Amino acid sequence: PPAKPQDKEKEKKPASPPLPRQNAKITPPSPPKVICDKTGTIQLNRVGFLGEGGFARVYEVKESSGARLACKVVTKSSLKTKKAKTKLYAEIKIHRSLEHPNIVCFQECFEDDDNVYMTLELCPSGSLMDMLRRRRRFTEPEARFFMVQLMGACHYMHTHQVIHRDLKLGNLFLDANMNVKVGDFGLAALIENPGERKKTICGTPNYIAPEVLFDTANGHSFEVDTWSIGVILYTLVVGRPPFQTAEVKDIYKRIRDNLYDFPPERAISTGAQSLIEQILTPNPQHRPTLHEIVDHAFFVQGLVPPYIPTSAHDAPPDFR
Ligand code: ADP
Repeated sequence: PPAKPQDKEKEKKPASPPLPRQNAKITPPSPPKVICDKTGTIQLNRVGFLGEGGFARVYEVKESSGARLACKVVTKSSLKTKKAKTKLYAEIKIHRSLEHPNIVCFQECFEDDDNVYMTLELCPSGSLMDMLRRRRRFTEPEARFFMVQLMGACHYMHTHQVIHRDLKLGNLFLDANMNVKVGDFGLAALIENPGERKKTICGTPNYIAPEVLFDTANGHSFEVDTWSIGVILYTLVVGRPPFQTAEVKDIYKRIRDNLYDFPPERAISTGAQSLIEQILTPNPQHRPTLHEIVDHAFFVQGLVPPYIPTSAHDAPPDFR
C-alpha cells in the first residue's frame, strides 16, 4: 500500500454532495485587532475571518487607504521545527514570484513577535468548492470558462518551473467578477534542474495523480497538475470527484485501477467524457499537454462564455 501522504491531504471526509465542511480544530489565539510589522510601517485592521487551512488562518484586513486584503496568519509556535520553517519559506518564495491574472496576487510578508503574516489579494466570493456546494454541479459552458482560466494559470506556473501539486476546487478562488484565482502554494514545488523529479508524496486524496502514489521510485513532475485538472473538470460537471469513496485507501485503489464512471443521469457530453478520459491517463507521459487540452473538441466546438454572471453563485446561468 502507498505510504501515507503528508501534510494536508486529510482534507475533508469524502461523501456525496453537498460536501461537508471541515470541523474546526482547537483555535490558537487570534492575531491583534490592528496587525503591525515590527517597524510600524504596515498597519492593517482585522475586519473578518475568511477561513483556515492546514496550518494557517486567513483574515480579511483593511489598509489605512481603505483597500481590503486577505491576510494569511501562521503562528510562530507552529514553526518550531526546521521542516515547518522550510515549508513556509518555500511557499512564500514560490507564491511571491508568480504574477498572473488567474493567480491570487501575493502582496507582502512580515512578522510580529507571535506570527508570520502574508497579505494576499482578497477573493471575497469564496472558492469553487463553496460554489459547488450550493450549485451541486456546473453547466458545461461554466466548466469551460473556469477550465480555460485555470489552464492559463497552470501553463504560466509550469513555464515558471512551478508545480502547484494541490490543484482542487477548494484552492480555486473567485474574484468579484467570477474570475478564477489559483491560491494556496503550500505544497508547490520549484523544478530547479531540467528533468528533475519530485519524490514527496503530497496532495489531496481525491486529486492525487497515480504516479505520486505508485511510482515513488521514479518521482513525479508537472503532469501531476494535469491529472488534477482532469479531476477538477470531472468534478465540475458531475458534482463529485471521480475516485471518491468513504475510505482514503479505497480512493487510492480506484486511482491505481483507473476506476471511475460517468453517471448516466448526469448526461455528460461525449466531448467532456472523451477529454476527461484522455487527461486521466495513468501514464503521465501519455497525458495530453495543456495546449492539447484547450485544442480538444470540448473547448473548440463548445460554448466558452466570455464571462460568468454573479447570479451563477446560486443558480445555473442561461447562456442562450
Ligand atoms: P492552508 O495553506 O493552511 O491550507 P489556505 O491558503 O488554503 O490555507 O486558506 C485557508 C482558507 O482561507 C481557504 O479555504 C479560504 O476559505 C480562505 N482564503 C485563503 N486565501 C484567501 C483569499 N485570498 N481570499 C479569501 N479567502 C481566502
